[in-house]
Amino acid sequence: MKYFRVQNLLLLSIIHFLLLVGATRGQAQQPVFTKQDTLRGSITKERAWWDLTYYHLNIRVNPADSTIKGVNKIQYKVLQPNQVMQVDLQPPMNIEKVVQNGKDLKYRRDGNAYFIQLAENQRPGSTHTVDVLYGGKPRVSKNPPWSGGFTWKKDASGKPFIANSNQGDGASLWWPCKDHMYDEPDSMQISVTVPEDLMDVSNGRLRSVNQNKDRTKTYNWFVANPINNYGVNISIADYAHFSEKFKGEKGVLDCDYYVLKENLEKAKQQFKDAPRMLKAFEHWFGPYPFYEDGYKLIEVPYTGMEHQSAVTYGNGYKNGYRERDGSGSGWGFKFDFIIIHESGHEWFANNITYKDIADMWIHESFTNYSENLFVEYYYGKEAGSAYVIGTRRGIRNTEPIISKYYHVNYKGSGDMYPKGGNMLHTLRQVVNNDEKWRSILRGLNKDFYHQTVTTQQIENYLSQHIGRDLARVFDQYLRDTRIPKLEYQLANNNLKYRWNNSVAGFNLPVKVYLDGKEKWLEPTTAWQELKGLKKDTKLLVDPNFYVESVSIANP
Ligand SMILES: [Zn+2]
Repeated sequence: MKYFRVQNLLLLSIIHFLLLVGATRGQAQQPVFTKQDTLRGSITKERAWWDLTYYHLNIRVNPADSTIKGVNKIQYKVLQPNQVMQVDLQPPMNIEKVVQNGKDLKYRRDGNAYFIQLAENQRPGSTHTVDVLYGGKPRVSKNPPWSGGFTWKKDASGKPFIANSNQGDGASLWWPCKDHMYDEPDSMQISVTVPEDLMDVSNGRLRSVNQNKDRTKTYNWFVANPINNYGVNISIADYAHFSEKFKGEKGVLDCDYYVLKENLEKAKQQFKDAPRMLKAFEHWFGPYPFYEDGYKLIEVPYTGMEHQSAVTYGNGYKNGYRERDGSGSGWGFKFDFIIIHESGHEWFANNITYKDIADMWIHESFTNYSENLFVEYYYGKEAGSAYVIGTRRGIRNTEPIISKYYHVNYKGSGDMYPKGGNMLHTLRQVVNNDEKWRSILRGLNKDFYHQTVTTQQIENYLSQHIGRDLARVFDQYLRDTRIPKLEYQLANNNLKYRWNNSVAGFNLPVKVYLDGKEKWLEPTTAWQELKGLKKDTKLLVDPNFYVESVSIANP
């Protein structure tokens, strides 16, 4: 049900065409987009007319020959009259048959997109189901989870250990779906048939397990909430299981853990970070957004991923991120990065979800920022600040966080992690009221509960609730690569100051210390003056602001 209407697709197409021309004529490093990128990344007219209401993905995973075969039942509501439906599935996977009300439907393939010709009249307001039968040998991931595909590994006793990862590349890598983030089904069933000595763990709750005659079992999982397509997950192994109940803000939350048998004892120790995470993040962000579906941590043969209500874990049962502390502050060794970071995405990615991957900062900046709030919750405010300031060493400032390319499934730079986190830390300083800041973070999760959003919605929300127009501040940190510089001169008992190296109209307030005494400045890009200071006053900018400062001899 999470969708928005495109008022004028034609206009979008024209804008996109102009961007494309710009992209192909520009410098060599600029991306070149194809028709396939547009089919994948835009709300085409063959997508816009129907609202996804329910999926039942029912598949058989065969480790012996690395194949998947099955059917996705797509239920939808007609919004506008149309007879052609776009469903996506990437080669080498193949749609074999499409059926509606017992009748085979014709379809045309254009690369990763299938255009299905519906026979029956699609009356606005009516609900229909279409069965998409498919199969094949899915692409193997070269570097999971960063490159999409399947991972076929073995556990210590030689049993299959299988996982999928597909953020960015798309869920249509392994199952046929409406592969665009703007629309989510209201609920979903995931049925996975595997050899009887293995188990599948997917999203939501395990409703039933069927023993089949051919020495296989079918695991039926049900997700009671809207779910984004890259969050849909299968994890297959001969799992050990343990569980606990977390008493949270919305009642009792079922926490279930699935790990390889050889790691059970280690997991029981390491996964103590899961309830610690829940306690801290409910404090900062509000109730865990999927109580109905429970919370799960599932061991997989790659580092980790934020699958909704089914966070996958492969950090080796050690603190840090693959035993490193990205902040260099030491605080990163106090927790298991994957448990904290990937679970933080339950609030920022799965609860509040981008409509277009160009706005991926909404997922990664807030989740990167969540790490220091976790540190602060347990180790104090100074520790949290030291952590987030420490992550600045990972900022590159070569490409902006938000690229200018929308509707082509193209994301901005990796600075969306540490730089985005430091932008949010800077905004917290501007708010200068920790309870207010916390209420804004909780408000975001309440007011955009289970929604897909644009960056404008989030930027406007922050401006409105912080109580000042932050448009230029967002332009600076999200759409520019320069670090704003506070230029100042202390002479003749006066302070002159302004912002430079910034976007036009940049107006971030900043806290400075004049001989150790706190003072708020409201610099703009024009020179301002503060008079009547003591002789030889020294100025220090509060290091919590992600800015630079320089003393100028002749302003
Ligand atoms: Zn992340």
